[in-house]
Amino acid sequence: MTNQIVQNFIDGRFTEGSLGRTFEDRAPVDGSLVALVHEAGSDEVDAAVTAARRALAGPWGALAAEDRAKLLHKVADGIDARFDEFLAAEIADTGKPRSIAAHIDIPRGAANFRVFADLVKNIATESFGMATPDGAGAVNYAHRIPKGVIAVICPWNLPLLLMTWKVGPALAAGNTVVVKPSEETPVTATLLGEVMNDAGIPPGVYNVVHGFGPNSAGEHLTRNTGIDAITFTGETVTGAEIMKQAAVGLRDVSFECGGKNPALIFADCDFDEMIEGMARAVFANCGQVCLNTERVYVERSIFDRFVDALKDKAEGFQRGDPMDPATTMGPLISQEHRDKVLSYYGKAVDAGAEVITGGGVPDMPGGYAEGSWIEPTIWTGLDESAAAVREEIFGPCCHVRPFDDEDEAIALANDSPYGLATSIWTSDLSRGNRVAQRVEAGITWVNCWFLRDLRTPFGGSKQSGIGREGGVHSLEFYTELRNICVKL
Ligand code: NAD
Repeated sequence: MTNQIVQNFIDGRFTEGSLGRTFEDRAPVDGSLVALVHEAGSDEVDAAVTAARRALAGPWGALAAEDRAKLLHKVADGIDARFDEFLAAEIADTGKPRSIAAHIDIPRGAANFRVFADLVKNIATESFGMATPDGAGAVNYAHRIPKGVIAVICPWNLPLLLMTWKVGPALAAGNTVVVKPSEETPVTATLLGEVMNDAGIPPGVYNVVHGFGPNSAGEHLTRNTGIDAITFTGETVTGAEIMKQAAVGLRDVSFECGGKNPALIFADCDFDEMIEGMARAVFANCGQVCLNTERVYVERSIFDRFVDALKDKAEGFQRGDPMDPATTMGPLISQEHRDKVLSYYGKAVDAGAEVITGGGVPDMPGGYAEGSWIEPTIWTGLDESAAAVREEIFGPCCHVRPFDDEDEAIALANDSPYGLATSIWTSDLSRGNRVAQRVEAGITWVNCWFLRDLRTPFGGSKQSGIGREGGVHSLEFYTELRNICVKL
């Protein structure tokens, strides 16, 4: 997977950009070149949108839901058949350990097609018989149609998983898509183009354009009025920009954005189970999951024990070759992102934090010295107004603060502009349920983290997003309902 050329995928064919330029995709583990990526200009974006619209009016639009579902199962089978290629590509782009990519990223990439292919066959709309003054009657029903051409704008942290989480339901519902993967992780979306062709998905249904955000493929795509709706996962500030772009032509948006997720840990929790869960919640994927916890509130009587135990966990991660089963923590996505995370490490210290562990860059052997590795970090002692406590860092770090009662814990958790995810740890399930109903979060876990049935609604409150994805909620976004009333 080194030194490969990555092209745009438009109308079933791989093409270079008319801009005639490439950008570099570098491996976070050692800075080596993974690929040269052809950047799409507005010409390629226009061509992709035109191809997607043509496919809507063509064979794809004519297919029954059941036939689309069969093809999407073939796409999922195609990912499974090329599992090792997808795995190698995702690991090269992200540096994440094989243990994560092989168990989460790639299997979920395939599952996202199967789940929505099955679901779309059963989604119903309402229908009512009506009386009319002449006695003939009428039937009034809702007719569900695809929304049209969907722009899919993706981040780099779970590239295939989050992209297919949008493409799966969009295609199941009969739409066509133009995907703009993150410039940091362009490979698996491109590989999926080959799988789409092999599965018999008609040309133009799935298109990929590569590039950056502002003044590049991302903005060209979201400004293109041939797009009917935009689905985006990424930073809240980017979402606000895309919303302005979507206003032209009044296009619908679905946003999964940032978080500053709290955990509330009560003294009566199962300590061992909780600490295992919290080590994942804070440090999984090197802290680069939107659902990771960066604010931890712990009942005072177990505060010191908690800090000691989380410190042991943080210091127990193994960095190194992502293919080595012993490796449990990868690097950050890029040097640029590491600079951002390190700036928060500095701000925390400047604001008076006690650094329990970490705070810097680890010594890495050989070529890994050029990678964007970072130490998992725990702070205590910060004021809630400190930048490291209020702003999303997106790194392997958290601030831990004690609380004295339930009301205080809830108030601390809710004092945030974000509202994505919360976890609550207690052996009192009545309390777990009570607190879950009062925390301002799109998803709340009680005694677990990152556990979810794909049919349930997923999304953020407050500045963490707009809308819900998952199950029928995705299909609601990707379809439009028309009201038809037939006088008999
Ligand atoms: P980002 O916002 O920097 O970029 C996301 C995508 O948007 C990229 O493809 C980028 O090129 C594109 N983009 C940037 N500016 C654009 C513009 N003006 N117009 C069109 N496209 C534009 O996010 P990121 O750094 O790739 O990802 C990390 C962020 O994603 C974090 O904030 C994280 O919390 C969030 N995230 C949220 C969820 C969720 O489900 N809520 C999931 C994963 C990641």
